[in-house]
Amino acid sequence: MKPLPDFDMVLFGGTGDLAMRKLLPALYQQVKAGTVSPASRILAAARRKLSRAEFLDLAEASCKPFLGEAYDAATWKAFAERVSYFSVDAQDAASYAVLGEALGQHPDRVRVFYYSTAPEFFAAISAHLGNAGLITARSRVVVEKPLGHDLESSREINDAVGQHFAERQIFRIDHYLGKEPVQNLLALRFGNVLFEPLWRREWVQDVQITVAEQLGVEGRGDFYEHTGALRDMLQNHLLQLLCIVAMEPPTGSDPDAVRDEKLKVLRSLKPFTPMDVATKTVRGQYKAGAVGSGPVSAYVEEPGVAPDSRTETFVAVKAEIDTWRWAGVPFFLRTGKRMPDKLAEIVINFRPVPHPIFGEAAHGGRANRLIIRMQPDESMRLYLVAKQPGDAMTLQPVNLNLDFAESFRARRLEAYERLLMDAIRGKLTLFVRRDEQEAAWRWVEPILENWASSEERPKYYTAGSWGPAASSALLSRDGLAWNEED
Ligand code: NAP
Repeated sequence: MKPLPDFDMVLFGGTGDLAMRKLLPALYQQVKAGTVSPASRILAAARRKLSRAEFLDLAEASCKPFLGEAYDAATWKAFAERVSYFSVDAQDAASYAVLGEALGQHPDRVRVFYYSTAPEFFAAISAHLGNAGLITARSRVVVEKPLGHDLESSREINDAVGQHFAERQIFRIDHYLGKEPVQNLLALRFGNVLFEPLWRREWVQDVQITVAEQLGVEGRGDFYEHTGALRDMLQNHLLQLLCIVAMEPPTGSDPDAVRDEKLKVLRSLKPFTPMDVATKTVRGQYKAGAVGSGPVSAYVEEPGVAPDSRTETFVAVKAEIDTWRWAGVPFFLRTGKRMPDKLAEIVINFRPVPHPIFGEAAHGGRANRLIIRMQPDESMRLYLVAKQPGDAMTLQPVNLNLDFAESFRARRLEAYERLLMDAIRGKLTLFVRRDEQEAAWRWVEPILENWASSEERPKYYTAGSWGPAASSALLSRDGLAWNEED
């Protein structure tokens, strides 16, 4: 891997869960890979008063389990030499002075401000950095989701950050875009001639995107009560994945060429009427059940959740794209908590052959299918129909398996690792532009509004199931079913 330029990364929320689970381990991995120069610095900042040694002790203990076999004491020492800690209260201008002093030692260096705090602080942090003159021409800011809870609040945050950073300096992270199989889908689509002629309504029957979690709300009930699955997952991650599947070939790989095409997809999504919300969306909430080996309680029994909560922990949607390429092809999206498996996949179902010359029985009605899986394993499998060995002309599905772990020996990058490196290098392609984000909010708003004004409750599903029965019915009305391939 190419070395990174010398950088200073300021990690607001440096003591938080995301920093410990993902961000600091990603930076450690890059130190281990030799891409981070000894001069580069990681400046962790949070509200607590900690000495550098206390912060490093906390970081080592917290990151170690997430680093697993990648942890070794010598690399940790090299990593720790680059780390310092600053006690900064996001809302207190004076507390930025020490940070400013440290940054001032290298005024010309790439500066990355990572906002890994609650979004209510983004405006204050931007203003205080701006007013203290800490935002240089080589500075950039990485902002975490959720950027608002609707179109208006996302505009407010974007306006506040945008007062101090130019759009080309703002890196809105959607870690699904950093995942290896998503990158590979781009390579498959635009690095081969084979798929492009098939990638359209004439040959694609339907597309399914699933992001399922086994976890519940994990003690964050009060946060989740005001969020729900549509805002937390579908508005951002699932719509971004849909864009990668549906976008037209961009003219190049530069950021705006790719993001322009994604924006066109978002703007071509058929808007939902109130009738569509009733017939083409399903919201669910889990009740008590069993996931994995143990019993789990209902969503409404989680701490911080109202007993009569209407927050959805599951959503399924039938999206349609009004373009020549995709008219009439349903894109089914679903995401939920307390599902049987942790699963994230995109399934492209191709149409059946127009005339089964070996007969329906031999063919078994099977069609081609491409499955891009991000979790639990990272893989891409193309299902073809082949003849079973023997004298009878019996067909069976076989899959061409492009298993990343087996085909490529190089260590795979975690999504956050790739995205942090891109932010340091100033590569915006895998980050979401403001107009994309707002187009996504605009499309989901009628769903949010109709749900909010409806008397109907979310449909219950048993924890450990694939969601309410209405989710299957959403597809069966079109004669289809959710993918069940392993
Ligand atoms: P968290 O564990 O609650 O950590 C919050 C961080 O913000 C802590 O470092 C805390 O510092 C700091 N903080 C709180 N109030 C502050 C203030 N007034 N001034 C300065 N710092 C302050 O949160 P998290 O889970 O890491 O999430 C951070 C952000 O990433 C959130 O926007 C979240 O939605 C988003 N996100 C998180 C995840 C995840 O997996 N955790 C995934 C996607 C997005 P102290 O320790 O000093 O209080």
